[in-house]
Amino acid sequence: MEMLRKRFNEYLEKSNETECILFQGPVNRDGYGQISAFGKQRTATHVAWFLEHNVWPTKFVLHRCNVKRCVNPAHLYEGTQSDNVLDTVKDDIHWESRKTHCKRGHPFAGTNLIPRNGKRECRKCKNELQNKRYFLRRIS
Ligand SMILES: [Zn+2]
Ligand SMILES: [Zn+2]
Repeated sequence: MEMLRKRFNEYLEKSNETECILFQGPVNRDGYGQISAFGKQRTATHVAWFLEHNVWPTKFVLHRCNVKRCVNPAHLYEGTQSDNVLDTVKDDIHWESRKTHCKRGHPFAGTNLIPRNGKRECRKCKNELQNKRYFLRRIS
């Protein structure tokens, strides 16, 4: 554990303005720091959590500061996937349940709304798409 702490600390750089402690090691494609610990590739925030609390997080480790590379334990908190949506890029399903209009601005109301598998479909767009497909089939 002390070995890990030492190795982890070597990667850290403190930002004076924000109190964020930035992980300078390798990052994954989502921008989160990666470090090997106990023979496994771990997320830097999880390692920071472990070193602070002596236990691995049971949920997601999220940032109060919204800085993905930050591993300051004071900026980290445990949360659920839905909290995580605030922290990371909004995912489609979340957006799906909140939207009141389709991508092209038709309202999801009355006969224009087609509920399907918890998602919402726009009848106008669907019809247009079908017409387009029909048209493409005719010209090809
Ligand atoms: Zn921070
Ligand atoms: Zn539409």
